[in-house]
Amino acid sequence: MSKKLFKNARLKGSQKLTDILVENEKFKKISPCQDKEKSNLEQIDLKGKLVLPPYVEPHIHLDYVYSISTTDFKNKSGTLIEGIQKWSEIKHDRSVEEVKEKARIAINKEILSGIQYVRTHVDVTEPNLTSLKAMLELREEYKDAITMQIVAFPQEGMYSYQYGDKLVEEAIHMGADVIGAIPHYEFTKELGELSLKKVFELAMKYDKLIDVHCDEIDDEESRFVESLATLAYLNSMGERTTASHTCAMGSYNNAYANKLFRILKLSNINFISCPTENMHLQGKGDTYPKRRGVTRVPELLDAGLNVCFAQDSISDPWYPLGSGNLMNILDAGIHISQLTTMEQIYNALDLITINGAKTMYIHDRYGIQEGHDANFIVLDSSDEYDAVRERAGVICSIRKGEYLFKKSPESYETKLQILK
Ligand SMILES: [Zn+2]
Repeated sequence: MSKKLFKNARLKGSQKLTDILVENEKFKKISPCQDKEKSNLEQIDLKGKLVLPPYVEPHIHLDYVYSISTTDFKNKSGTLIEGIQKWSEIKHDRSVEEVKEKARIAINKEILSGIQYVRTHVDVTEPNLTSLKAMLELREEYKDAITMQIVAFPQEGMYSYQYGDKLVEEAIHMGADVIGAIPHYEFTKELGELSLKKVFELAMKYDKLIDVHCDEIDDEESRFVESLATLAYLNSMGERTTASHTCAMGSYNNAYANKLFRILKLSNINFISCPTENMHLQGKGDTYPKRRGVTRVPELLDAGLNVCFAQDSISDPWYPLGSGNLMNILDAGIHISQLTTMEQIYNALDLITINGAKTMYIHDRYGIQEGHDANFIVLDSSDEYDAVRERAGVICSIRKGEYLFKKSPESYETKLQILK
């Protein structure tokens, strides 16, 4: 029987230190232990550092990572539409092994930044389903280090790409966990609406989750989120449904937004905002004032809806940057969304932890609770406010009671007495 005691842990929302007893890969006890309980136990002193459930990356495209030349970012307009076109030109020339090789670099970076849960949107609008085959293999290869959900995502359209709907269904048969769509990219509004109906039809037929790239455009008339929320509400699928991006919501007039929020609240769907990606992609048709490109994050949170942040891209035809580090995304996201009251800063870490877990629909087994898998991270900070302000790094990540990694404390050399 393997037993470990992680002592002097600072849990989020608590000023007191506690102990975390792990037994047989699970959290056995989360409260101070008596001396007699500690004897004969392996003990690890966390020295008052902040302990969180692992970071959750709910929206990334691991089959696209590092697919651009670092000297020639071919998407000259820097828009979503040109990104899809450039991707379409290169995606047929890749082998399963190549996709896996590049994705491993990104996954390893994600693990080393404290992520243990990933939802990856995989392009299935390609007859050989190369991306999907690669991701299915990686989901298995990495299962002891990360929990991966795969979205069957029709990047070029459920109906605007030949047999897109059939490819999505084939991807489900091959093992995809979540069904995607991209209604704002379909040739017509009608096809966009049809794609949403298809998503729900498939999700209910195969008992799958839903995550739609929804209204990722500055067009204030792109209103697919109202249809997505309505379908989720009518089919009682809200908690299993996610709207990614919803950038157009940042362009809606307030009269429409007020009306929209009624069905959003009734539906209880989840929202993912990709702040760095959409700051980069959106507003490209504007002069000044220039739109920010992100959805109404504080308003959604105030309405009691679940919102989380995600990276989306790492060096692909849509976005030339990205490192897999969610603390960078959080920092950008709270600035662009103006989530900067003290209360919002204290709660900001929820946007890359529990809110992401809720979106991935894993919240019943996620978190630092007795009986759950002993998965957690330790930040180089003793307080959630400082952690966010300083963009604290993750000093160790633990899964089922074992270290995925442990970092040495940072050190530096200096001749300046004042810095010593
Ligand atoms: Zn995406």
